[in-house]
Amino acid sequence: MDVTPILEGLNDAQRQAVTAPQKPLLVIAGAGSGKTRVLTHRAAWLIDVEGASPQSLLAVTFTNKAAAEMRGRIESLLQMPASHLWIGTFHGLAHRLLRRHWQEAGLPQNFQIIDSDDQLRLIKRMLKNLEADDSRWVPREIQYFINGQKDEGLRPQHLDDGGDLNRHQFIEFYRGYQEVCERGGLVDFAELLLRAHELWRDNEQVLAHYQRRFRHILVDEFQDTNAIQYAWLKMLAGKTGIPFVVGDDDQSIYRWRGARVEHITRFQKDFPGTEVIKLEQNYRSTATILEAANAVIKNNNSRMGKNLWTEGASGEAIKIYSAYNERDEASFIVGRLREWSDQGNARADAALLYRSNAQSRVLEEALINAGIPYRVYGGLRFFERQEIKDALAYLRLTSNRDDDSSFERVINKPTRGIGARSVDSLRAYARANACSMWRATGALASDEALGSRARSALTNFMNLIELMARECKSLDLHEQVDHVIQRSGLLEHYKKDKGEKSETRVENLEELVSAARGFEGDPEEDMSPLDAFLSHAALEAGEGQADAWEDCVQLMTMHSAKGLEFPLVFLCGVEDGLFPHQRSIADPNGLEEERRLCYVGITRAMQTLYITHAEQRRLHGTDSFALPSRFIGEIPRELVEEIRPKVQVTRPNYGGGHSRAAAAPSGQRESAGGLRLGQHVRHGKFGDGVVLNYEGQGAHARVQVNFESAGTKWLVLSYANLDLM
Ligand code: ATP
Ligand code: MG
Repeated sequence: MDVTPILEGLNDAQRQAVTAPQKPLLVIAGAGSGKTRVLTHRAAWLIDVEGASPQSLLAVTFTNKAAAEMRGRIESLLQMPASHLWIGTFHGLAHRLLRRHWQEAGLPQNFQIIDSDDQLRLIKRMLKNLEADDSRWVPREIQYFINGQKDEGLRPQHLDDGGDLNRHQFIEFYRGYQEVCERGGLVDFAELLLRAHELWRDNEQVLAHYQRRFRHILVDEFQDTNAIQYAWLKMLAGKTGIPFVVGDDDQSIYRWRGARVEHITRFQKDFPGTEVIKLEQNYRSTATILEAANAVIKNNNSRMGKNLWTEGASGEAIKIYSAYNERDEASFIVGRLREWSDQGNARADAALLYRSNAQSRVLEEALINAGIPYRVYGGLRFFERQEIKDALAYLRLTSNRDDDSSFERVINKPTRGIGARSVDSLRAYARANACSMWRATGALASDEALGSRARSALTNFMNLIELMARECKSLDLHEQVDHVIQRSGLLEHYKKDKGEKSETRVENLEELVSAARGFEGDPEEDMSPLDAFLSHAALEAGEGQADAWEDCVQLMTMHSAKGLEFPLVFLCGVEDGLFPHQRSIADPNGLEEERRLCYVGITRAMQTLYITHAEQRRLHGTDSFALPSRFIGEIPRELVEEIRPKVQVTRPNYGGGHSRAAAAPSGQRESAGGLRLGQHVRHGKFGDGVVLNYEGQGAHARVQVNFESAGTKWLVLSYANLDLM
């Protein structure tokens, strides 16, 4: 057999890993050294050369995007479709198992997945039901607690409060939350993993079946597995499975979600005789980028330690841009993206990476204004938008009446005269009778205790859902979606809405119909197209917002960029307090994790890397001043080109934010931009005013003007087009 295509384009160490004998293997190597490549080639090697059946392979990766890419790569190596191959994320694979074995897993057949937003809402509602003091019990903390326990594989009955009252209460909340989920057939993300683990633990035959089937277990990004994921893999491997795992301790960035980099050492103990292979040559980035990444990560203490090198050219300097504020940052980036496209490059080769999701909005706005198509991965996603969740809630109810989250979301949306008091009574009834809100509605709709208007409103609501469910039966999936958004009154509701977003919301609802039309379920799955679509919506939030075929700029958090690579990368908002994140600065472990994230960010870039930061930023509605991130300072100067040296500005005394800047000589203030204090000026939009203050110089200069009618404003001089009066 001709094996060369599979071994082509691999160096010696990579080849050694791909062709290793069938025993446990661990590849531990830095960013861009070909770990994922080795994994895909190994899969092809096993099938093509070792004669393994595609069914005997299970491959786990970290994101849906990575899974799709891996499937594509394996298919092109094998030159045949790899649809039998189980490739997916831990969550996706767990979901698949639970759908197949819902009975053994103790779930209703039409169980629904809830995302973290739904989960939080459910917790809030539970607290309200329990009349718990919400200043004392913070819903997010409870959510964090519950997920943390699940990630460790622990149920309430496994937990001991050790006499701590606070902990006692948290355990009770966990118990209560779990009851609500059981009642509604709801499964959160952490539950998917835990259930899948329990499924195998408690059903010997099911486990034996999968152990026989999946002889080869391939895991990418192994450094970020949490306890339950590791336990799941170990159980699957049993005594006969052959795990092949690849990872990089320097890229462990999910400790806050329970990931344990220690699994790398544990693996070697749990699987005696593990062969360990290191890869040290980087093929992704220029020498300059690689050197910068190495220099940054060197500042971490807890590392296994490895050195990456490249044969590649030194490449361009890393460009650092000090923006005035977040809008200036965005417009700079837009300018560079235009240049990039004008030079004939694909937009999809450019990525904007940021620390926190909220940063994307300003970037998105600038891109929209500039007419540059973009796509946001992860983060605020199509399927998480309000109107989409409304529509999905109706759809879920047509499939599962006991889904309380969905019920409460739409019972009075659009308004149909069911007030908070009626909903409270429903809740109380449901609680007292340990039933769902839907059942409570059935009982109370004929109960004299409620007013006749409320009763008939409730009956109408129930009739509406039943009717929609009946009418949908004979329709195709996209017709069902279309039907439900109309029949429920949602579309009309958003059309009438005068809010600034209403137009987009209507478009989004229409987009949901197209998403359903384009949706292809997994033919292997034994569930209705609607349930498949709803699960897809919960699991794959983020896909489907921009047309897949459109060439567009990629936006995502640095977390979701793990494993990916782009010729052009912007790391945005690289400021102390934002990145490293404020809450990590004081904690050495937290700071090291942020630094690993920075390492991940830098090593996404192949040719060109921009790092931008803003001196002033408005985020979540508040303005703050920030210093460039300490990580920028860790990059050797000789690798860097400062595009716009930080300006020395005089800053008026705002309250709050620390004042940093040195004052410019006063003579210069008088002459900046040819304006002087007290000068009368006229602005195209704001009218007449008087200059109160300046700051900055050259293209950076801003001027504060007190306009007669529009009040005091700061304007960027070079854009303001002021006429001197
Ligand atoms: P990360 O740690 O970021 O996940 P990785 O170690 O998984 O990175 P890959 O994504 O597999 O690295 O590879 C990085 C890039 O280098 C890819 O574009 C890959 O095709 C290329 N590459 C890897 N090995 C070789 C090789 N031997 N020859 C040429 N290119 C290679
Ligand atoms: Mg990889």
